[in-house]
Formats: sequence, structure tokens, C-alpha cells
Amino acid sequence: MAKILIVEDEPQIVRGLSLYLERAGYTTTSVYDGAQAIPAFRQEKPDLILLDLNLPNRDGVDICRAIRSDSAVPIIMLTARSDEMDRLLGLELGADDYIVKPFSPREVVARVRAVLRRVGGVLGETDVVRAGALLIDTAAYRVWLAESPLKLTQSEFEILLALARHEGQVLSRVQLLEETQGIAYEGYERSIDQHIKNLRLKIRKAGSPTKMIETVYGVGYRLEAPIDPAVTEKDHAA
Ligand code: CA
Repeated sequence: MAKILIVEDEPQIVRGLSLYLERAGYTTTSVYDGAQAIPAFRQEKPDLILLDLNLPNRDGVDICRAIRSDSAVPIIMLTARSDEMDRLLGLELGADDYIVKPFSPREVVARVRAVLRRVGGVLGETDVVRAGALLIDTAAYRVWLAESPLKLTQSEFEILLALARHEGQVLSRVQLLEETQGIAYEGYERSIDQHIKNLRLKIRKAGSPTKMIETVYGVGYRLEAPIDPAVTEKDHAA
């Protein structure tokens, strides 16, 4: 599980980023003051740093330089103005990417994934979510059940991914909606039921002896993924 250090003085931005990054399977640590960035970096040994440019007590440019002097850790700079990007690029700071505010947390998650994948070179374990015989490659948007690939729509993919990340726990329709659209809209909750229906059908067709996604009446849905569908089938027959 990759660890992300967030250095950003706006609590609201930190909250949004932490929430989305953690949902995407990363762990996060946050500091709000430029002076805390280097100590936090040394202590936490993050796999990637999201670094705001304008910070109290020590600015992002200075922090980036200091880290780069002895570490190749991926750094994504967060800047408030697009014209700052040219200046930053000119400084040859060695940052791996830049994101201009305002950004959506989803965009940041995508950029974090892309940078980690680029520096990792190969598919990292952070890109893969397993639940029983289910294997979800979050970077490539591909899913396998045992050896069978599942062809899913984006909504189905996001729903299955959310359920797999919380295997054995119940997720409400509103929680699942948040996964598929970022924001939950009232009235759209029933669309989740249709996606679940389609998912179960595809899971069945891929050879699963169970529907895997259980309905918990009045609450939501829960994934119960058997480790080996074939074994489960035999157990059922016995
Ligand atoms: Ca700032």
C-alpha cells in the first residue's frame, strides 16, 4: 500500500485529498506547515509527496529542492495559479508533475496513480485489489474472476472495486453512488440496483457458483468472494 504525504495548509483541500486517496487504497499523512514537511518526509518515508507551493514558514519550491538533494521520491506540486507552472518548470525543481488548483480530488488520484506507475515501471501491488478469487487491476481497469476476465462498464467497475475494498462489509447505496459519481444524488440510488443486477449476471457467467454480491435488506450490499469458485461449488454439492 503506497503512502502519500500531503503538505498543504488548506484543511479543506487536505480533507478532500485524504478521503479520495484513502478510498483509492493509499494511506495518507498530512502536514499543514512548510516547516513540518522535511521532518514528516524523514519520519514517514512516503512513496509520493503532494506538495503545495505556497505554505506558511517554508515554501514548496524550497522544500522540493531540499528533498531532491537526497531523494528521488515522486513529488507532485500543487499550485494555485497556472502561470506559476512555467516558473516552476523553469526552476528545474525535479518535481514529477504539477496540478493547478482548483482540482477535483479524482483528478489528483489519477495523477498519483500515473506517477507511481511511471516510477514503479511495473504494476505495483498498490494497483491490485484482491477479494477471494477476484483480482481487480485498478490501473488498467480490468477485472478477473479466477481466470476469467469480466467485461464491466465503468460504473460496474467502480461499484465492484468499492465492494472488494470493503469485502465482508455492507455498503449503502449512497456510499456506492459516491464511488461511481463522486457525489451522491438522491433518487439515483435505484440505479445502483440495476448495476448490481448486471454485475451478478456477469459474475455468474464467469463461472461463479454464488452471486457474490449479497443484498442486505434495508441497508445495502456486501461482497462475499469465495477464494476458489470451483472449491465452493464442490462444497455446496457435498
Ligand atoms: Ca497554500
